[in-house]
Amino acid sequence: MENTMLQQRKQCRLVLFPLPFQGHINPMIQLANILHSKGFSISIVHTRFNSPDPFKHPHFTFHFISDGLTSDVRDKPLDPVLIIKQLNNNCAEPFRQCLNELLSDGKENNVKCIITDTNWYCAQEVADSLKLPRIVLRTSSICAFLAFAALPRIREKGYLSNPEPNIEEPIVELPHLKVKDIPTIDISKLEDLYQLVGDFVESSKKAFGLIFNTFKELEEHDLEKLSEQFLMPIFTIGPFHKHFSAGRSSLLTQDRSCISWLDTQAPKSVLYVSFGSVATMNQEKLYEMAWGLADSKQPFLWVVRPGLVHGLDQWLESLPNELLESINERGYVIKWAPQQEVLSHPAVGGFWTHNGWNSTLESVCEGVPMISSPFFGDQKVNARYVNDVWRIGIRLEKGFKREEIEKAIRRLMVDKEGEDMRQRIMCLKEKADLCLNVGGSSYRSLEGLVDFISSL
Ligand code: UDP
Repeated sequence: MENTMLQQRKQCRLVLFPLPFQGHINPMIQLANILHSKGFSISIVHTRFNSPDPFKHPHFTFHFISDGLTSDVRDKPLDPVLIIKQLNNNCAEPFRQCLNELLSDGKENNVKCIITDTNWYCAQEVADSLKLPRIVLRTSSICAFLAFAALPRIREKGYLSNPEPNIEEPIVELPHLKVKDIPTIDISKLEDLYQLVGDFVESSKKAFGLIFNTFKELEEHDLEKLSEQFLMPIFTIGPFHKHFSAGRSSLLTQDRSCISWLDTQAPKSVLYVSFGSVATMNQEKLYEMAWGLADSKQPFLWVVRPGLVHGLDQWLESLPNELLESINERGYVIKWAPQQEVLSHPAVGGFWTHNGWNSTLESVCEGVPMISSPFFGDQKVNARYVNDVWRIGIRLEKGFKREEIEKAIRRLMVDKEGEDMRQRIMCLKEKADLCLNVGGSSYRSLEGLVDFISSL
């Protein structure tokens, strides 16, 4: 019976369209693998920019479209709002043409639906014109999506209109959040953000369904609120990386030498430090980080991604010798980590993170408590939830100050406070494990998604 259904689904092709950034590519490729394991045939449409290696995914067919990005946009420090807007402007037609070719191609017909990142707001009009159902994947948390969806009300209430807003003021419309947690990107370009968010929220409201890489038990209350505002079927089928690791879709080479280094460290003694694939900082912040890490006297594994620091052409070699010596005493520094493996390593006891949603969820699933330094957007909401709602981390409220960093590391890695957080996050880890088991919430939601797609 199950075999017949798998065979039938093989006739159904799903076209997936990820936003071309690491934190969006990983969950979309994981979703592709999950749906492929349920029998569906998968096509991935991708920009040439930041493309994953098709040879690592031979069970999917890849179709590349022109993104038209100019080098001044793609090579500068990332301006997420500008680049997402340009991608939508440039890719709508190539995407339509690509789908048209797929629909008329004898080999790849039977396209059931398209699944795009929420940020591809241009895709709704394309889907409508081709009479294809569109489902959207939101790669971040529900709590952050609700915060984005509330931006028009936040704007009306004027929380950010004062030139010097009170950043500690609570947001009445979003319990738990303060003005400093509003998911802004560049405060000097608020109008552009309002427009982008308006576009992706409105286009999501027209979609057939919404998929989230989260699980019900983690965001139950916000899931209820979401269902009141978005009336289509909503599927919470995460955590995706428990089905398929993010490693295969990594755009940078993961340095596995850190695993041998971790093998030499005591259990739960190492702080893992990484700010994901797009955050950038200046040299002053890097120095404060380095001194805070060195002064904490705790072992650490630190990812300093090429491009993380503006103007630092030579990676860490340009740091003063005294600082390099302090780093080398207890630290191990690499350019890109096999993050999932690192977080599940017994030596890792804490994660200093920017709270990108994938990193946050990967940490929850391994029971590793966090120190939070959100940079922009959804990271700010995730960090507040980590600190105040789930109480599984410490948010660095004053930015990058070496004394505060040192204190936070000791609170997390040495003090009883950190141990309490570890226990709370272990409870969430257990819930994450259970939700994927037969009959668990994400398991059932995935069954619902498969039925829903089959019925389209
Ligand atoms: N990642 C990795 N190696 C690293 C740092 C991050 O493989 O050294 C992966 C991580 O496992 C996650 C993704 O990159 O899947 C980052 O996504 P996230 O949403 O946390 O942050 P973003 O990069 O989008 O800011």
